[in-house]
Amino acid sequence: MSPAQTNVWVPVCCDRVMRFNMFVPQGGAAYGALVCTVCSKNVTFELESLLDLDAYGEGARVLNMLGSPKPPKVDRPKAAAEDRLNDQTL
Ligand SMILES: [Zn+2]
Repeated sequence: MSPAQTNVWVPVCCDRVMRFNMFVPQGGAAYGALVCTVCSKNVTFELESLLDLDAYGEGARVLNMLGSPKPPKVDRPKAAAEDRLNDQTL
């Protein structure tokens, strides 16, 4: 496994990891919802079948993002975040 594969993007709002739930409505298209447990900001994720990123503009890339329905209810430590910024595997 290369070092890049050991990293994952974590969605953060209000210093907390955001919660991610997936929904599969009967007869409808599956979707995901990313929610901040502090301020209730939410982002909807829709499925896309695609490998042609050109339509999404320059710099578009597929991210390896963590989606947890029960993320830890603790603030993200700032010092650790700075350590990760120095990570050379991006
Ligand atoms: Zn928030």
